[in-house]
Amino acid sequence: MIVSMKLHATREEIDRVCERVQEFGYRVHSIEGEERVVIGIVGTGDVTACLESIEAMPGVEKAVRISAPYKFVSREFRPAKTLVRVDGHEIGGDQFIVMAGPCSVESERQIMQAAEAVAAAGAHLLRGGAFKPRTSPYDFQGMEIDGLRLLRKAKQATGLAIVTEVMSDRDVELVAEYADVMQVGARNMQNFVLLKALGRCGRPVLLKRGMSSTIKELLMSAEYVVAHGNPNVILCERGIRTFETATRNTCDIAAVALLNELTHLPVILDPSHATGKRSLVPAVSRAAVAIGADGIIVEVHPCPEKAISDGAQSLHIEEFEAMMADLAPYIELWKAARMTLAAVAV
Ligand code: PEP
Ligand code: MN
Repeated sequence: MIVSMKLHATREEIDRVCERVQEFGYRVHSIEGEERVVIGIVGTGDVTACLESIEAMPGVEKAVRISAPYKFVSREFRPAKTLVRVDGHEIGGDQFIVMAGPCSVESERQIMQAAEAVAAAGAHLLRGGAFKPRTSPYDFQGMEIDGLRLLRKAKQATGLAIVTEVMSDRDVELVAEYADVMQVGARNMQNFVLLKALGRCGRPVLLKRGMSSTIKELLMSAEYVVAHGNPNVILCERGIRTFETATRNTCDIAAVALLNELTHLPVILDPSHATGKRSLVPAVSRAAVAIGADGIIVEVHPCPEKAISDGAQSLHIEEFEAMMADLAPYIELWKAARMTLAAVAV
């Protein structure tokens, strides 16, 4: 933190600020300037409370935080990338991870067809919501426990690990029995009770960015999970809400690159929710590879025309197969770039 005192603040005011800082457990690192004194403060403690208190003191012009408010998830804290291990795959490592499947689990036939098709086309994880966060209370809310059971069946048939959403802290134990990765949806990114429960769940967490959340808020939410005991968090950019209505959301592609600078956690992109249009999914997926995402999560349905949710953005199986073939040479370049990065890091 840095505290900038008002022009000609008195010696007494400066001393009081230093004392208050120490009461919060911080150390005064340096005091500079004659007319306008600037106080440098270091240490750990409740930064927000300290800043608010200092800013209310006489003689203080401004008190600002200079280091990031998130600690465990920051690159400064841990320069090496986190590898999240899921069923023999390493997310954040030298494999570009593809998670694919329908928006919702709808029936045994639907999820089995989807699972077999995406496995054959080279996906690493099967996605599918059993608990669905729908904007309208009258829309399909998911098959819940029956959906989880079908996901297990699909895993047994294909060997694909499962990523599925958990909406409430009350369901964490149940979902963790079936899921290899616990998805936190955009609408729940700041459900802090849920995030704390996921800190103790023993499963990796896929944390999707809220549609109106800043990158800092996303990282603070990840910090909740990590600070509560779970280091295995994967971040997901899934588009944000802007003035643009031509796409369902606006894909903040630069967020992927920025997150890679700010955090050591793996970052994936969701081209389906980011665009809302299946025709755009392959191009945005290529962009995910090019910008250095660790993977994608993409919606695929055996018959999108009949999908109960998100049919317009779901790829047909043949489109997914074509996209995987189209991505292959880009993924080769991605791997080469990863190897170069790893070599430079050594
Ligand atoms: C989903 O993955 O189907 C979903 C609901 O995504 P989001 O939370 O990003 O809207
Ligand atoms: Mn969806």
